[in-house]
Amino acid sequence: MNPSDSSPAPITLAFLGLGAMGYPMARWLAQSSQENGHTLLVWNRHRERAEAHTAETGSRVAELGDLANADLIVTCLPTSAEVDEVMARLPNLRPGAVWLDCTSGHPDAARRQVEELRSRGVTFLDAPVSGGVVGAEAGKLTVMVGGDAAALERVRALLSFAGQVTHVGPSGAGFAVKAINNALLAVTLWATGEGLAALAGSGVDLGAALSVINASSGRSNASQNLIPQRVLTRQFPPTFKLGLLAKDADIAMDVVHAVKGSTPLLAQVAALVRGAAQLIGPDEDHTAALKLIEQMNGVELR
Ligand code: NDP
Repeated sequence: MNPSDSSPAPITLAFLGLGAMGYPMARWLAQSSQENGHTLLVWNRHRERAEAHTAETGSRVAELGDLANADLIVTCLPTSAEVDEVMARLPNLRPGAVWLDCTSGHPDAARRQVEELRSRGVTFLDAPVSGGVVGAEAGKLTVMVGGDAAALERVRALLSFAGQVTHVGPSGAGFAVKAINNALLAVTLWATGEGLAALAGSGVDLGAALSVINASSGRSNASQNLIPQRVLTRQFPPTFKLGLLAKDADIAMDVVHAVKGSTPLLAQVAALVRGAAQLIGPDEDHTAALKLIEQMNGVELR
């Protein structure tokens, strides 16, 4: 796994968790593996999805026991709890392998998982991603990595789903940055929804209002890329679950509590998003949180 080699020795990669993000990420790994003579094994809890991936991309469906030969294992599961479950079911791993966890996980779990795998000769890196399903489809994800920087350099060239890969600190730092990033997403999404609800109540055309905001200082990813396409159209396409955003905001609060920080704004938005997930539904798209704002204000954002 020396990225400086012009013709790298064939290696085995494994991808576990072919969900909304994992499926297109593993498509990029399948393509780059074929180009470089590597093998990509894929595993999914519901096997049909792995079979569909293999039929589409040329990856190879695997049982968990087949992963003992993998040089690089990539996981993208809902939370660190599912990563723990899978790890416990994989007793045999290749010493020297790297486990790159792209789950938006918990910093405490990363530190535990590093120790668990160290005893088996495997290096764990927390490496959550940002960019959504669109970024995964385009192979342009931002990857924020915590842990052994030398291990990251050994696998960096293999991460064909990434547009940017940045080492952000020791184990757990990647998960911490991701949690805070998504807490900021929650803040801008929620705040923009509140502002638009007030404008809707005032009889303002929301499309026109957003075109002004997006050419002004109130703009954000939420106002530019989420609310016009997902909320005003009433489509709320389910690509990133509201329950997962609530989970990320909760992790951000744990990051704050671990340093005895004072972040009342983040705390309030975490509570609001958690409430929205319960009332609107955890499997709805995260932008459906704004349906709760609509109910609170007696308006519809369209
Ligand atoms: P999905 O719900 O679409 O996919 C979840 C995946 O995890 C599926 O492959 C599912 O398998 C598998 N899974 C669920 N429970 C278990 C279990 N107990 N054991 C083994 N496998 C399990 O999630 P996403 O792809 O959206 O998200 C994955 C991670 O990426 C999350 O941490 C999320 O926060 C993060 N993320 C998501 C983004 C997005 O836009 N969607 C953007 C950036 C990060 P099965 O198919 O069998 O159900």
